[in-house]
Amino acid sequence: MFELNQYPLPYKKNALEPYISEKTMTFHYEKHMAGYIENLNNAIQGTEFVNMSLKQIIIKSSHSKDTKYIFNNSAQVFNHNFFFNCMKVGVPQNLPKKLFNAFASIDDFKTQFRAVANTVFGSGWVWLVTEAREYKIVKTANGDTPIAHNQTPLLCLDLWEHAYYLDYQNRRGEYIDTFLNHLINWEFVENCL
Ligand code: FE
Repeated sequence: MFELNQYPLPYKKNALEPYISEKTMTFHYEKHMAGYIENLNNAIQGTEFVNMSLKQIIIKSSHSKDTKYIFNNSAQVFNHNFFFNCMKVGVPQNLPKKLFNAFASIDDFKTQFRAVANTVFGSGWVWLVTEAREYKIVKTANGDTPIAHNQTPLLCLDLWEHAYYLDYQNRRGEYIDTFLNHLINWEFVENCL
């Protein structure tokens, strides 16, 4: 069984203000994240998944349509925990040296990330990943996650409306730009490289 405190927020709920409000963080973490954990616990009871790690559940459940509900909820637990760790206010906004080959500059990275984000229709995620030693910006729909596709995540942005609607309403582009300009924890990204 999984518990919310296994996936602590790495900062206080008001730590991302003024970019993301305490109210948004409270709902996102205590309601949405907690909800995925509760759904997952209920769904795996009495199944072969019950003693697996979160990543094992994600990979195994991704192989069959019959376990889509378990996949969606386990992947969303992983995605959200990863996303919350991708953000921090006050970190120098410099592109890590290891990414210099993949992107001409931090502005080039932002342009490419924003372009992919703008193609997400409905709920989904944008990611910087490595796949076969290449850096890529990819999107996943709904609860899907790169770790089910042999990709290693380095950074992600939650583009479900619940992630930004209280603060930005329909201004999704402003939320994307705020993330790109103020919220990326490049130290976390570097540790993932
Ligand atoms: Fe979310």
